[in-house]
Amino acid sequence: MNIILLGPPGAGKGTQAQILVDRRNMIQLSTGDMLREAKDSGTEMGRIVADVMARGDLVTDEIVIGLIREKLLGDKAGGFIFDGFPRTLAQADALAELLDENGETLDAVIEMQVDDETLVKRIVGRAADAAAAGQPVRADDNEESVRHRLMEYYKKTAPLIGYYHAKGQLKSLDGLGEIDAVAAAIAAALDG
Ligand code: AMP
Repeated sequence: MNIILLGPPGAGKGTQAQILVDRRNMIQLSTGDMLREAKDSGTEMGRIVADVMARGDLVTDEIVIGLIREKLLGDKAGGFIFDGFPRTLAQADALAELLDENGETLDAVIEMQVDDETLVKRIVGRAADAAAAGQPVRADDNEESVRHRLMEYYKKTAPLIGYYHAKGQLKSLDGLGEIDAVAAAIAAALDG
C-alpha cells in the first residue's frame, strides 16, 4: 500500500509516518529529511537548498522529484509513505507518472487537519525545547519561517486537497488529538 500524508508543517506527519513504519513495515519517504541530509553532508544540492529551506520557501519541483524517483527504485517493503511530498500540483502529477512507471498505485491520501495557531505554537515550542536541551534546532523552526511555510502550504499545497478529492483518494481526519488517537484514525482510514 502506498500513501501520502498531507498536511501543513507541524501537523504531525513525521510522527505518524514513524508509527506506520513500525507497525506496517512501510518505508517513509520524507523529502524534508532527504534535503536536510543533503544540507548536512554538504553536497552541492545541499548548498543550493539551504537558504531556500531556512526561509521556508519550497525548493524546486525538479530537485524533489529527482529525490523521490531514486527512492522508488529501492526496497518497497510494506509500501511507501510520502511525507511532505508532493507539495505542488506538478509534483503530484510527477508522482502519478513515477508510480505508474514502476507498476505501483497510490492507495490513499490522508489529510491531517490542524489549526494554524496550534501549528505555530507546536513548532516554535519544539524548537525552544530542543534548544533548552542543547539539541540542534532546525533553521526554519522560528516563528517567521513557520508563518511563511504555512502560507506556502495554503498557496501551493492545499490545492492538492481538491485534486485528490476529485480523484476519490482523499481521506481527511482531525490531526489535533493525542498521537495514539490520530494513529487509530489513520489506521481506520487505511483499513476501512
Ligand atoms: P519538511 O521537513 O517537510 O517540513 O520540509 C522542510 C523544508 O524542505 C520545506 O520548508 C521546504 O523548504 C523543503 N521541502 C521539503 N519537501 C519539499 C517538497 N516536496 N517540495 C518543495 N520543497 C520541499
